[in-house]
Amino acid sequence: MGDKPAVTPDGYCTNTEPVPGNTRTVNAHAAGPKFFRMHGRRYAQCPCGRETSLTERGNLRRHKPPKEA
Ligand SMILES: [Zn+2]
Repeated sequence: MGDKPAVTPDGYCTNTEPVPGNTRTVNAHAAGPKFFRMHGRRYAQCPCGRETSLTERGNLRRHKPPKEA
């Protein structure tokens, strides 16, 4: 391994590049009206293992990587 993105001193992942081919769009119509506000949001996988939402520019939002076991 050893290819995990770095983290900031306060624990946030510094990577903003999603893993190619792992983006998905939330289909809230299938999830029900409760999730309608999330409809059309794009999510992507970070190399650190966290799945997070994307900005309009296609970058990963600030997130914390999952804890190592
Ligand atoms: Zn990450």
